[in-house]
Amino acid sequence: MARRDPKSLRAALPGIVQILQRFSPQIGKQKALLIVSFVALMAEIFLHLLEPWPLKFIFDYILVPGFRSQSLGIPLLAGLSPFALLTALTLGLVAIALLRATAAYFSVVGMALAASNVLTEIRADLYSHLQSLSLSFHHKAKSGDLITRVTSDIERLREVTVMAVLPLIAHSLTLVGMIGVMFWLHWELALIAAAVFPLFIFFTMRLTRRIRQVVRSQRQREGAMAATAAESIGAIKVVQALSLQGMLEHTFSGHNRQSLKESAKAQKLAAGLERLVELLVGLATALVLWRGVQLVLGQVITPGDLLVFVNYLRIAFKPMRQLAKYTGQIAKATASGERILDVLDTVPDIRDSRGAMDAPSLQGGVRFENVSFAYESTTRILHNVSFEVQPGQHVALVGPSGGGKSTLVSLLLRLYDPLEGRILVDGHDLREYKLQSLRQQISVVLQESILFAASVKDNIAYGCLGASDQAIEQAARLANAHDFIMALPEGYDTILGERGATLSGGQRQRISIARAAIRQAAMSTTGFAYAILDEPTTGLDNENEHAVNEALNRLTQECTTFLVSHNLRTVEQADLILYIEGGQILEQGTHKELLCLGGRYAAMYALQSAIGKNSREDDAYAIEA
Ligand code: ADP
Repeated sequence: MARRDPKSLRAALPGIVQILQRFSPQIGKQKALLIVSFVALMAEIFLHLLEPWPLKFIFDYILVPGFRSQSLGIPLLAGLSPFALLTALTLGLVAIALLRATAAYFSVVGMALAASNVLTEIRADLYSHLQSLSLSFHHKAKSGDLITRVTSDIERLREVTVMAVLPLIAHSLTLVGMIGVMFWLHWELALIAAAVFPLFIFFTMRLTRRIRQVVRSQRQREGAMAATAAESIGAIKVVQALSLQGMLEHTFSGHNRQSLKESAKAQKLAAGLERLVELLVGLATALVLWRGVQLVLGQVITPGDLLVFVNYLRIAFKPMRQLAKYTGQIAKATASGERILDVLDTVPDIRDSRGAMDAPSLQGGVRFENVSFAYESTTRILHNVSFEVQPGQHVALVGPSGGGKSTLVSLLLRLYDPLEGRILVDGHDLREYKLQSLRQQISVVLQESILFAASVKDNIAYGCLGASDQAIEQAARLANAHDFIMALPEGYDTILGERGATLSGGQRQRISIARAAIRQAAMSTTGFAYAILDEPTTGLDNENEHAVNEALNRLTQECTTFLVSHNLRTVEQADLILYIEGGQILEQGTHKELLCLGGRYAAMYALQSAIGKNSREDDAYAIEA
């Protein structure tokens, strides 16, 4: 995820150009609002330039009339008495302040609204992009870090755009206007004032670069901290059971201390830069006064002119002071922007190929042709896997842990693509179908069913958005779940914990079966292409296992089914059993055929039968005792 060359102009201009370019479609949509705000901004700048002029006239024509060497130049005011002139000029001062405040209000509010609109849209894009990224991306990324990107990185970008970037643009334009007027008033004096600028630019660039580096690494560290916190809180049970608190706290506080150090360093650098600018303002003012007073005494310029000059100088350096003040913030926001771009620029590995078609209603004939697969390029997990399944057949995948069974079924879901070979469904490569139209026709029940923090009803309805209450109940009945749901405090409206913690494993499993069932009912003709059951009953007690199995049998009655199981008793009826070890299918056939073969399956079966018999005898003994 490394990006940009620090020596380039883009990097010096904190990646802002890149961020603006990337988000130009979203910015384009706010054109009308931006134009109105920009016009208001221009009016504000003009009025800002006008501000010291009434004072100049008061100086030159009322306070020090001896210096009046030319007429006032404003016909309307020419014939006025000094008192009337003073009244007119002070009223002018008020009018300028009032108009300027109004214009500033509209420009600030307009720009802030536009920025918020743009960033809200970017956040929505980012979220939907994250959802579309393949599992291989999510396995590598830390979820806490990704959450920081969607929430606080975007927020920081919005805050800094409104609080720092927009005022900075306004001040910079004011600066340009003031330099123009200063040169128009007296070019020599303007040159003296401008002499300080190169010094300023040199120091700002240098310090800004350092601040940006510090801030970027601080931001990465915050991401790491969020990731550590999310991981340990997500697995708090394991953490407490294994007494890992101390170790995790140590890691966390290490990051925390480092982040504090970096934050202090960034603040020191920014404060130093600000003081430097103040010093330069003092220097410029002294130079201008030194030469300006001589010019006034020589009657080359009026005292009012000098007043305008000094006033402009003070205001003109304001954007610079702002620049110094906001440098840290802008650097932070740029780093945030880059982190957002990093995600948006990641192309999903698994996506619709060009010319992909909507999957028709699939029958569920599946063929693996010499499929090989690896998560990382170095280690192959599946080697040359080939087998064929007729529509409606039940296939069981068995074998030792780590053999590659779950990997094989994730290929069926197209969570990953094979490295070599192909997987055909109804005679077409999976990659020929549009991803969503394919996955819609696959039903999945995993070992650890994921329930959302929503009502039971909603959790089931996620299988088919907009399902009626009646359909939900029907699905729950099919899944053997209706009775226990009705026994919950609020029935179908009971809200489940973040991980459905208030339900037992078997109950959660049955809710996820109901979710699959409601989806199946919604499919127009044949139901699912195939169902994938990845150890759905592991860890359940006998009673729950029985209920879940019954529900699964009903769900998969007619459709092609892939069942991953450790328990060979549950696979005896399968039409085809694949014994997988070390990423290869070592044996395949029906239960009877494999027993006759007398190979690994037969050995595993014999072992499980013996253990099962022993434990049944133990149970009987315990009851008698
Ligand atoms: P099984 O389901 O038979 O227990 P798996 O398919 O889960 O086996 O795992 C097969 C091999 O793939 C294991 O060696 C496992 O460590 C590896 N593996 C599983 N998932 C990933 C992953 N996301 N990234 C890298 N390796 C993985």
